[in-house]
Amino acid sequence: MENYLYTCQYCSKEYKPNRRKKQKYCSNSCRTRAFAIRKNSGLNLPSIDRKKPTKTTIDKMSLAGVGNAAVGTLAVNLATSLFIREENKPATKKDLQDVKNLLTSRYHAVLNMPSQSNGAKPFYDLDTKQIIYLINRQ
Ligand SMILES: [Zn+2]
Repeated sequence: MENYLYTCQYCSKEYKPNRRKKQKYCSNSCRTRAFAIRKNSGLNLPSIDRKKPTKTTIDKMSLAGVGNAAVGTLAVNLATSLFIREENKPATKKDLQDVKNLLTSRYHAVLNMPSQSNGAKPFYDLDTKQIIYLINRQ
């Protein structure tokens, strides 16, 4: 029981829980992100069967589940909150550049993976260490 590992419900990483049973995420940042996503989209993250943390399950979730739906939603929400400012002014060129810098510093394009049919391109997320798909809305 001491060596029992939990699987983070956000980034799929296996970790040793500090507080058993209550803890669902490996870190505070994963917990916060998962909460923000649930709150913003009403999306239920797919939960992983903890008894059988097979490699396949983890890969499937990182790519299909979290990558496309959740992180995509997070990126869109992030962009939206930057574009919609209190004064309700349209985004300036500087705003656009800020978003671009933000995205390009955290997400790095993956060149050896195909784009999706909707035009979303694969990126490596330095923060969560996962491949995600983002749509360039420029
Ligand atoms: Zn995590």
